Amino acid sequence: MTQDNKLDRFPRAQFMSGPTPLERLDRLSSELGIDLWLKRDDLTGLGFGGNKTRQLEFYFGDALQKGADTILITGAVQSNFVRSAAAAAAKLGMQSVLQLEERVSDMGKAYYSSGNVLLAQILGAEHMTYPEGEDEVGADAALHARADELKAQGRKPYVIHLGLNHPPLGALGYFVAGQELCQQMPDVDAIVVPSGSGATHGGLLTGVALEENTASVFGVCVRRDSEKQMARMKTVLQKLADLLDIDAAPLHDRLNVMDEALPPGYGKLSGGTRAALDKMARTEGIFLDPVYTAKTFAGLLHLVSEGKIQPGQKVVMVHTGGLPALFGYQNELASDLS
Ligand SMILES: *Cc1c(COP(=O)(O)O)cnc(C)c1O
Repeated sequence: MTQDNKLDRFPRAQFMSGPTPLERLDRLSSELGIDLWLKRDDLTGLGFGGNKTRQLEFYFGDALQKGADTILITGAVQSNFVRSAAAAAAKLGMQSVLQLEERVSDMGKAYYSSGNVLLAQILGAEHMTYPEGEDEVGADAALHARADELKAQGRKPYVIHLGLNHPPLGALGYFVAGQELCQQMPDVDAIVVPSGSGATHGGLLTGVALEENTASVFGVCVRRDSEKQMARMKTVLQKLADLLDIDAAPLHDRLNVMDEALPPGYGKLSGGTRAALDKMARTEGIFLDPVYTAKTFAGLLHLVSEGKIQPGQKVVMVHTGGLPALFGYQNELASDLS
């Protein structure tokens, strides 16, 4: 069975207009002594782009097949996933309910009003809040409670779950991306990708493995430490392998997570993260976001300095987007000129 056939049984909405660009970063390549490329998944198009566009193709495919008219989804206040879901719902003429969790403490005013919060309001989404940021099962249960109310009103709700006890449909989008990347660059040596829920990292690794590509795939922890993330990734890979009807064991052997860029924690910037964000902007004119991609680039710099990425190697960093959060983090990132 070819990989394409493996995807045939999953309904899929179309939000991508084609493969995303793979661009060489010339100045950073010379500075770091490697052959560095950026997979521009910040340019996936729908509602400010980012990695969730690929994941949502499969969730919305499933939702449409089930006749849903309303999508419910949960995430951090500056979640890109909920903003992208609201954009996808708008495109398909559906309603969206976004649940925002308190995951990051002590944030300035812009965190609650600008960036993704602003965009979701423009998209016309309904908002609800959840007081806890580390309770995936509880957050999902709260979505189901709201879904039940909507059902009683005659609506047809569809919940996109956060917890791991559901099929990781979003990872299928990165299974596709892994294959796409290998076709664009069959001789890639290393791929560096953020590892949060694990849908991106797990899907990509699986796609790369099924292309019989031997590149190292490094997952940079952005949400939890490497021990916890390793355990989570094993579950994600197993669930994805079950969906695709493949053996998970060879995937587990290729799992690689690192948490050097995680401190001081999810959604919080260290000096190193900030320096990585500035370096990409000032060397290549490309913006990274403060929560995911700046940490990913900081992780990549660490891999180079540690020798885990070697001089001359062909390296791809996946730019997963998240750029609206730059404005949600303006109090943390910028000084006020007024
Ligand atoms: C959600 C997100 C991630 C993490 O992706 P997962 O699939 O949840 O691991 C990385 N980067 C950005 C910009 C995101 O919004």
